[in-house]
Amino acid sequence: EAAINRIAAGEVVERPASAIKELVENALDAGANRIEIAYADGGKTLMRVTDDGCGIPPDQLPLALARHATSKIDGSDLLNIHSFGFRGEALPSLGAVARLTITSRAPGHEAGEIAVSGGQVGAVRPAALTSGTIVTLRDLFYATPARLKFMRSDRAEAQAITDIVKRLAMAAPFVGFTLRDVSGGGEGRVTFRAEAETGDLLDALYGRLAHILGTEFAGNALRLAATRDGLTLTGYAALPTYSRGAAIAQYLFVNGRPVRDRMLHGALRAAYQDVLARDRHPAAALFIDCDPTLVDVNVHPAKSEVRFRDPGVARGLIVSGLRHALAEAGH
Ligand code: ADP
Ligand code: MG
Repeated sequence: EAAINRIAAGEVVERPASAIKELVENALDAGANRIEIAYADGGKTLMRVTDDGCGIPPDQLPLALARHATSKIDGSDLLNIHSFGFRGEALPSLGAVARLTITSRAPGHEAGEIAVSGGQVGAVRPAALTSGTIVTLRDLFYATPARLKFMRSDRAEAQAITDIVKRLAMAAPFVGFTLRDVSGGGEGRVTFRAEAETGDLLDALYGRLAHILGTEFAGNALRLAATRDGLTLTGYAALPTYSRGAAIAQYLFVNGRPVRDRMLHGALRAAYQDVLARDRHPAAALFIDCDPTLVDVNVHPAKSEVRFRDPGVARGLIVSGLRHALAEAGH
């Protein structure tokens, strides 16, 4: 069991940022309105995610650390996935390769705490917490020294943490986020903050994107709304005035989850080909929503890849949605 968890950890957790992603997704699944994330030394020595979500009753704490125990779906529902988590794999995996502590309080229950270190799960103890959950992860990969070597500099890992937190913040504009570097101890230094947006979803999204991608993006952004064969596209795209490389500011979310798909870059290029110089790249945050059976998010345990049942439809939706918006804007 411990060995299986360590192997699974290699797939779920590649680096500190992937641990942060799992913990923040859990906080979002728990219905948090505010999420505070702290890290030290690029996340290598400490990561902590604090949320004001539904909490975990003390008697459920051991279950949260059990492999393939998820409160989010029953086994029959693997194709019908709406929450971020569904594998029940993240916490056991993290507990196998790091020192993990969960402190939590669910309404109507006492607060409790459980710790696991290198796969050894301790007993549930009473704790002091008014509500929500704090997950603390120390010494990532201390139990798997071979993986320690693959971590990059503190600076590079901190950058990766910031990137993933920003992506998740784009996916959840109604949630407030604070990211702190606490390497020096104490309160640390706030490296990213986003206040909870209000209004309808598209307005909230616009506000969040303007905050994260900047006023240049916001000022040029075209609002997208298109549907094709059961797939809905919403979001914003902009003609940037910079040309800093292909990877910049192109974000895709499928059913609310940040994903990577090589299709996106090509689709954006194709849509903008007549209005964009060769060395320029459009910026975009695109949200595709569809019936969960039309997309497979189960491709990889880290869940950042998707496979559309019909990739051509997704690409066509993006290209035609963008061309339509460009035409409306007079391009
Ligand atoms: P999954 O998210 O796939 O269900 P995880 O291993 O990430 O699996 O989490 C296991 C379980 O622990 C979740 O199903 C949930 O019940 C509980 N849990 C984890 N994090 C939180 C949190 N921040 N707030 C409330 N419950 C949580
Ligand atoms: Mg999870």
